[in-house]
Amino acid sequence: MVTASGSAQAPAATPFQPAAPQRKRVLLAAPRGYCAGVDRAVLAVEKALEQYGAPVYVRKQIVHNKHVVQTLEERGAVFVEENEEVPEGSIVIFSAHGVAPEVHEQARTRRLRTIDATCPLVTKVHKEAVRFADEGYDILLIGHEGHEEVVGTTGEAPEHIKLVDGPEGVADVEVRDPSRVAWLSQTTLSVDETEQTVAKLRERFPLLIDPPSDDICYATQNRQVAVKRIAPEADLVIVVGSANSSNSVRLVEVALEAGAKAAYLVDRAEEVDPAWLEGVSTVGVTSGASVPEELVTGLLAALAERGYTDVEEVRSAQEKLLFALPHELRRNLKDD
Ligand code: SF4
Repeated sequence: MVTASGSAQAPAATPFQPAAPQRKRVLLAAPRGYCAGVDRAVLAVEKALEQYGAPVYVRKQIVHNKHVVQTLEERGAVFVEENEEVPEGSIVIFSAHGVAPEVHEQARTRRLRTIDATCPLVTKVHKEAVRFADEGYDILLIGHEGHEEVVGTTGEAPEHIKLVDGPEGVADVEVRDPSRVAWLSQTTLSVDETEQTVAKLRERFPLLIDPPSDDICYATQNRQVAVKRIAPEADLVIVVGSANSSNSVRLVEVALEAGAKAAYLVDRAEEVDPAWLEGVSTVGVTSGASVPEELVTGLLAALAERGYTDVEEVRSAQEKLLFALPHELRRNLKDD
């Protein structure tokens, strides 16, 4: 090589080029956050507090979200585990996850004034259970053992319902008559895993009857479809939601199955470990059906401070469903 001065030189090293700055962006799944059942349940507690004043008792967490529960507690809601903790004659609200008939019966015995905030889509599953049981079927309820919704649905027909906790639970199921078997499911399961469970059940019980319509609710399905859209491009998916929220936990699993390199569940932005973001270019963000949008906004602000200012919303469905307030509250509101 000859330079302009004519002196010979050794071949030059590749000129130094600064690494292109890493493009940091956020893919924000939509729909995310509050579903119609959660919106109605939270509003029911707020309206009851307005209408009757504090304290208003709520049996179990009204929805599975720490922040929502704390906010309502600050406004005068008192969360209890069982009816026995509620003073006789007081108002008690039943949570969105539904209750067994015996819980209504206990409330009557204690002269409690009840407001039932069970999501109408959970009530639909209860009615299916009652109908199948009345027709003499054994019901294979796909769901997570101990989850409040499963406990409530099982209470509708305890003699007829057998819990199937995922594909691994299929082999152990015993029924009275294999020709009279139906399946139902919890509303917040993974759609894909439930399909696998049903396929295995059908291998064992070829005459298995399906529910009249999907038990996994529209909100659970839409949030799983939405996270599947963003996960393949994401180095990291952060799901905002509480650890006891079934649909939120499922979103983490679905994100990983759909190709996210990593996925974590956080209640709020402060729980994000900075180490998760090392070398991460694209962060996917979504939230469970019991999560208020302000928690997602907080997470986006925290990510922006770390350079993730480019936010693109990826929408896979529009949701317009709204449920009316529980009828007890509508009636009482009108009476005033
Ligand atoms: Fe109802 Fe589905 Fe929301 Fe549960 S997640 S409260 S079933 S709409």
